[in-house]
Amino acid sequence: MRLIVVGAGLSGLAVARTLAASAPAISVHVVEKSRGVGGRVATRRRDGVTFDHGAQFFRPIDAAQESFFRHTLPHDSLIDIAKPVHTFDAANRITVGDSVQNNEPKFVYREGINTLAKLIRPTTMTLSLQTRIQHITATATGYSLYSDHDVLIDSADAIVFTPPAPQTIALLQASTIDEIVKKQLITGLSPATYRPCISLSLLYAGVFDPDYYALLNNDRAHPVSWLAVEHAKHASRVPAGHTLLTAQLAPQASRDVWNDDDASLTATVDGWVRTLTGHQLPAPLWGDRQGWRYAQPDGRADATIMQSYEQSHGLYFAGDAHTGIGRVQLALSHGNAVAERIATHAGAHK
Ligand SMILES: Cc1cc2nc3c(=O)[nH]c(=O)nc-3n(C[C@H](O)[C@H](O)[C@H](O)COP(=O)(O)OP(=O)(O)OC[C@H]3O[C@@H](n4cnc5c(N)ncnc54)[C@H](O)[C@@H]3O)c2cc1C
Repeated sequence: MRLIVVGAGLSGLAVARTLAASAPAISVHVVEKSRGVGGRVATRRRDGVTFDHGAQFFRPIDAAQESFFRHTLPHDSLIDIAKPVHTFDAANRITVGDSVQNNEPKFVYREGINTLAKLIRPTTMTLSLQTRIQHITATATGYSLYSDHDVLIDSADAIVFTPPAPQTIALLQASTIDEIVKKQLITGLSPATYRPCISLSLLYAGVFDPDYYALLNNDRAHPVSWLAVEHAKHASRVPAGHTLLTAQLAPQASRDVWNDDDASLTATVDGWVRTLTGHQLPAPLWGDRQGWRYAQPDGRADATIMQSYEQSHGLYFAGDAHTGIGRVQLALSHGNAVAERIATHAGAHK
């Protein structure tokens, strides 16, 4: 059986990894539009600073997954962030965070959270980077997948779609497959709407070393929803004598400043962050932005509809559109579960 996975985020890589172990007869080709693997589990390097501009950390869902992170995967650079997450409100009042949650692991890697994607990725899968699937055509035996300008990328018996639901909907709309199936799948995906998020990382000369790792807005009435201190993950993340703060903006604030140029966005967010934290550092050396149009889901796709065409049509769906909550560990476990069903349907278990 030939399988194409659209997207090399954590859910797509989990599909490939699980199938490599449990159904090696299935050939897996992962096709990814960006330059590397990981999707929203993303790390950037600039001027000797390493910062995570998407997901910040991950938390195992159960003891088995914790053991997977701590023991099964290489774990030399795995970090459990020691400092706590505090909360803040619209009036910039900071209070100690939830002690139960703060006692749970907050995993990340010394070289960046994107290390997780590199560790999960199986060596046996075929990977095409910088290749965006634009449309799909049903054939007599399966599907052909095309990139922009109608370039045939590959053909397969089955497909796993992992992009955020709005992107999968656009892909289905552009595709030539059974119209009733297409309409049903789009209906099933529609509840999984996504909120946008601008992430802005600010580098300062000077040291700001609070007693928290991060601040979480708990009344959803502040333009900043999350603020993280990168060197609290590991000292090597930021050159000595410097501070890197990563601010994630709330959905409406993200929309409001989406088209601002870098200089004015940096000045605006620096003002919010300064008032919130009370730090006295000079103006930032730079601000590094990432606009996530589809940052995290606010709803969940209809599982009954989405699983209706798995065995009959070879159409599978994985990722956080199907967990309803944007979490690395859930995307991973959802990818594993979808892979188990593919292996069962293919009758390909060892
Ligand atoms: C700012 C931000 C902060 C977050 N913070 C946390 C956190 O602290 N902890 C946590 O657990 N989770 C967090 N999350 C959520 C977490 O990152 C996601 O839920 C998870 O990574 C989703 O994985 P996925 O595989 O479902 O999707 P993705 O990672 O989005 O993977 C989908 C992949 O498909 C690719 N793709 C899309 N369209 C196409 C196409 N047409 N052709 C080919 N490839 C395509 C994309 O480039 C992408 O690589 C955060 C997310 C964001 C954006």
